[in-house]
Amino acid sequence: TIGDNLRRTVERVPDRDALIEHSTGRRWTYREFDAEVDAVALGLLDAGITKGDRVGIWGPNRAEWTLTQYATAKIGAILVNINPAYRLHELEYVLNQAGIRMLVAARSFKTSDYAGMIAEARPKCPALEQVVLFDDPEWLQLLENGRAGDRNRLRQVAETLSADDAINIQYTSGTTGFPKGATLSHHNILNNGFFVGELCGYTEADRVAIVPPFYHCFGMVMGNLACTSHGSAMVIPSEGFDPGTALAAVAAERCTSLYGVPTMFIAELDHPEFESFDLSSLRTGIMAGSPCPVEVMKQVIDRMGMSEVAICYGMTETSPVSTQTRADDSLERRVSTVGRVGPHLEVKIVDPTTGLTVPRGEPGELCTRGYSVMLGYWEQPEKTAEVIDSARWMHTGDLAVMDSDGYVSITGRIKDMVIRGGENVYPREIEEFLYTHPDVLDAQVIGVPDDRYGEELMAWVRLREGAPELTAEALREFCTGKLAHYKIPRYVHVVDDFPMTVTGKVRKVEMRERARDILD
Ligand code: ATP
Ligand code: MG
Repeated sequence: TIGDNLRRTVERVPDRDALIEHSTGRRWTYREFDAEVDAVALGLLDAGITKGDRVGIWGPNRAEWTLTQYATAKIGAILVNINPAYRLHELEYVLNQAGIRMLVAARSFKTSDYAGMIAEARPKCPALEQVVLFDDPEWLQLLENGRAGDRNRLRQVAETLSADDAINIQYTSGTTGFPKGATLSHHNILNNGFFVGELCGYTEADRVAIVPPFYHCFGMVMGNLACTSHGSAMVIPSEGFDPGTALAAVAAERCTSLYGVPTMFIAELDHPEFESFDLSSLRTGIMAGSPCPVEVMKQVIDRMGMSEVAICYGMTETSPVSTQTRADDSLERRVSTVGRVGPHLEVKIVDPTTGLTVPRGEPGELCTRGYSVMLGYWEQPEKTAEVIDSARWMHTGDLAVMDSDGYVSITGRIKDMVIRGGENVYPREIEEFLYTHPDVLDAQVIGVPDDRYGEELMAWVRLREGAPELTAEALREFCTGKLAHYKIPRYVHVVDDFPMTVTGKVRKVEMRERARDILD
């Protein structure tokens, strides 16, 4: 279990840094971290939380998040990650859907008044018995009770836990629709964290800047669990993402590894004072979550010095990582593929209609199997049955190609594929191309309904600062002769920002909805 694994690390490297909050200066060694986790765990037991109870956590990245993550794991309670960007009705949905008994939360974050929303939601959430807000007397009391408690009690509780118990419910990002609660076990996420750490070659000398939100598996599994299973330090740059603070944290804490989704790296590389940060400690890092433009990858290696940076592909339902690039993969492969299947996992590409494995080099739906596949969607057996088949293969909904050496490229999502006049168009390919335009900072392509072709292509572009106006004609001309005619976007829409999920992914569902109004 996660508790056993943490204990082994604490025994091995008790005096190494475990957790550092760059913005506040708070820090814990592994011995101190473990003691604080035990205090929270005992405090939770004291408050009547036991194995299988759902404990919600709602807030930005801060130490209390991580402490609660390990404390719930130690007592076998199920941690339910609540998206920091949620509003009242989404909060109510999660509280009721997961049957949360205790909610641990920040008082507020940015423009979100969590305390206010919780107070409003409470009468409509009968399962919710207790609310503990960080910094409030309730949290301090819980810690105080826990510190006075008997740590032997936790050893007894540990004997009742099994690695296959549900330990965590993570809601998917909601990129393609309504978020679903993936139920994950110790076995699922601990293995995933461990192998991600192996991939990055982590030891107790590593210090990892965890920028992506903890609420998402990128932060709490690929970040926290990868670190604690290898004795590396978890560095929290700031509560929410800020490119300058992330770079400052790397410099101040001599981080060896930096995480982010491509949009975060784009913002960091684009920071006006980029050159003033000393990033020479960086060796590796992970970029994941959505397709990475080749150009960005090259800059991460050249300008940030992350020579061993890895690309990971995965999803919440698979704990999350399924494929990954390795440090000894050629640059070409590291920029153009998501690597090969991870240790002890299987990946196959199938024809979504027949379910048969397609020949190497042909596109199809990526399916994966192994320790990583979730137990199921929380209390949604019909939804689970739609994605996990009787042989335990997880059908990801992602389109991919596997080459003859086993390298996988993600070509899009089945839901985002555009069928224009009978031709399958993969927006990703067009986006990569638009990105080579000197004035284009970022580009996203969607399909919009069209009477003649069924669907037509629409490009949304963000322009570089100071770039002149970009007309549809000019962009189409740029594409002419370089993209097949049916891949050239008919419509171009210049925007300041794309609609995003809090995990930094572009919500194409929302773009498609808005496109209808734009074209009307
Ligand atoms: P929802 O399932 O609610 O629509 P989501 O699929 O975005 O949202 P996540 O589980 O956070 O929720 O994201 C997993 C998805 O992210 C994958 O299915 C894939 O489409 C995309 N993805 C992850 N890593 C990569 C990558 N390296 N390259 C391209 N796409 C990726
Ligand atoms: Mg998904």
